[in-house]
Amino acid sequence: MSYDDYDLNPLRLALDLASLGGGTLSFALLIDRQQLMLTDHGYRPEQDPRLERALAGLGGQLATALGQADDDGFFDQLAALLEAQDCKPQLTRHDGTAHLHYARDGAPLARWLSTMAVSGLVLYACRHGRSRLRRCAAAGCGRWLVDTSRNQSRRYCEHACASRTTVAAYRARQQDHARPSCPVPLAQPRVSCTGS
Ligand SMILES: [Zn+2]
Ligand SMILES: [Zn+2]
Repeated sequence: MSYDDYDLNPLRLALDLASLGGGTLSFALLIDRQQLMLTDHGYRPEQDPRLERALAGLGGQLATALGQADDDGFFDQLAALLEAQDCKPQLTRHDGTAHLHYARDGAPLARWLSTMAVSGLVLYACRHGRSRLRRCAAAGCGRWLVDTSRNQSRRYCEHACASRTTVAAYRARQQDHARPSCPVPLAQPRVSCTGS
């Protein structure tokens, strides 16, 4: 894992939870996407309805915070969410690299994930603001993503969404070409090049 991963993993978890809360990512897919991080930390999540309810509830709050129109509303909601977490920052070197955990190792998974996600989003937003946090622009997706591209041009959450959009745009263009072109107005304004 690179330094960036340590920085961004908690943020990505928060964004996945917001997508779960907003109904654009399933619980099973969220667990699948976080599998490596979870097993790295000794957790083996299963389809647990209580965990799902807890995370979907937090995810809904994260989605509401991220969806705020103005920065004041966003940071107010974030502050309230942070206050509601049972955070106890821990310096850990469990994998040989010093990094922060936000609850003790072995804490109940819902708490361990919630503290990490909210703290991760707060740390990121205090440092970088939220201009790079956005929803995927692909039709029918809308998952939250962090745009880490140099020129802030990323619009899609993953390659599949980008290529689906490209194919759809291509097909739309093809259909436009297949249709008879716009009728030429019969009475075109006469424009004389030579003047009269
Ligand atoms: Zn760790
Ligand atoms: Zn997408």
